[in-house]
Amino acid sequence: MLKKESEQKKIAYFCMEYGLESDFKIYSGGLGILAGDHLKACRDLNIPLVAIGIKWKQGYVEQRLDEMGNVYDCYRDIDASKLEDTGITVEVTIRENQVPIKVWKTEAFQNAPLFLLDTDVSGSPYHGITKQLYGGNDEERVAQEIVLGSGGVKALKALEIEVETYHFNEGHAALAGLELISEKMKDGLSFHEAWEQTRKQIVFTTHTPVEAGNEIHPISRLRYMSANIGLTIEQLAEIGGIPFNMTVAGLRLSRKANSVAELHLDTTKKMWRHVTGKAPLINITNGVHGQTWMDQRYLDENLNSSQCWEIHQENKKILIETIFERTGTKLKSDKLLIGFARRMTPYKRSNLIFSQPENVDTLLQEGKIQLVFSGKSHPMDSKGKAMLSSLHEMQKKYPESVVLLQNYDMNLGAQLTRGCDVWLNNPQRPKEACGTSGMKAAMNGVLNLSILDGWWPEACRHGYNGWAIGDETVPQTEEKQNLKDAKALYEALLNEVVPTYYDDHSKWVEMMMKSIESVKEAFSASRMVQEYWNKLYAPNKGRGLA
Ligand SMILES: *Cc1c(COP(=O)(O)O)cnc(C)c1O
Repeated sequence: MLKKESEQKKIAYFCMEYGLESDFKIYSGGLGILAGDHLKACRDLNIPLVAIGIKWKQGYVEQRLDEMGNVYDCYRDIDASKLEDTGITVEVTIRENQVPIKVWKTEAFQNAPLFLLDTDVSGSPYHGITKQLYGGNDEERVAQEIVLGSGGVKALKALEIEVETYHFNEGHAALAGLELISEKMKDGLSFHEAWEQTRKQIVFTTHTPVEAGNEIHPISRLRYMSANIGLTIEQLAEIGGIPFNMTVAGLRLSRKANSVAELHLDTTKKMWRHVTGKAPLINITNGVHGQTWMDQRYLDENLNSSQCWEIHQENKKILIETIFERTGTKLKSDKLLIGFARRMTPYKRSNLIFSQPENVDTLLQEGKIQLVFSGKSHPMDSKGKAMLSSLHEMQKKYPESVVLLQNYDMNLGAQLTRGCDVWLNNPQRPKEACGTSGMKAAMNGVLNLSILDGWWPEACRHGYNGWAIGDETVPQTEEKQNLKDAKALYEALLNEVVPTYYDDHSKWVEMMMKSIESVKEAFSASRMVQEYWNKLYAPNKGRGLA
């Protein structure tokens, strides 16, 4: 007999952040947007998935620059009026104290059910734990991860949701694995038996392709914070190593793990080759939620090239109007507009296009190319903030053709990836795990001009649906890499992008249409979650999706 939907076992998706709607700022960037798109696509396809996250009181930083280019961080309470109170409270142990957690629920953003955990319980001295996403010191981070991991497992139990598979999106949720082991040991299993059974319940997605970017904690800190959840030092070390690495833990706690782009799979395998006892690694390339990010008019199969261009020009004018409102600069809709919006952090090299000014100075002075930048830096990333300040300088130097939009968010992301002509991406290879903004751009006919990093090698056909910057070789030193990539960027820009835009309009529009066609399904969130379902959630059960 078929079970009722409510009795069906669920996939429980754990993530620190979710980008569901621009103003509901429980997200910081790519990881959260991906999680939000995952939930929306699961909802669209009726995949039995529930999600666990944190109800951040203030969410991620708001960032402003003053006239001088100084960067200011501020925080504001999030509007949580769309959340439903489940009436459920669970408790976790943090620093040997019992910390109450309230459980909220939302499906208001057309997403699969999302349960948000909140320590801001009236009268609780621990209300501050869920205050700021990626705020606080290492101990506060561990406290947040106990809430997400241990609290999440307990919340699902209290909600009487039967879980078939736990999906940890990034290492932040790894402590949920310790909670599951600990539960089984309370039922009488040995540590190794409990671990073995727990592994069968978990799948894990890793993102950060830079070893230093993966979170580690001294075991003493985990013990002191009560994050060991009853396990001994030796048991913790077996799972996450010494110091305890959250990604290594994810790899050893799961039955299967995945990367988020083909190139990222190679990088991930190399990075963790020394880790014994890890789950087999496969790749599932990210995708983006079409209804959220794509101008739906492009879905019309009968669109001709002039209609395609018209839609684009409309989107470009909307963006130009937003830029005018925000900065007072009026860009021109008949001149090439290049967009660059990323987290401001050194490896993304937002300044690369200015690194040999003689190559672009005249074009910028004449307004033949116009550049729009946006992005936030992490509040503690002083180099990232310096990049914002230097972009502010460039805006002063070229007031008619360079703009910096402050306080990047989903609304700006959507407008930029619809309204620019070209989407520029020039990270140090191979440090970009995937880079989903390029997919949003591509499915709106905004042509990618990108280093062959992240997802782009899978989609790029140079001169057909966008352009590659340089080739796949990477020089030994960072300095040489910067020089080589800058040279390749200028070559592609000056010899291909600019001439095509101004002198070969029909080829340009043809490329736009090829871009949309080659990306809209292949890099959609629905393709992505179907792959998760078939390869990760329900392998060998022969239950494909209709
Ligand atoms: C899509 C998106 C991202 C992720 O894009 P990347 O290409 O990984 O930088 C980050 N922030 C916002 C607001 C987005 O819309």
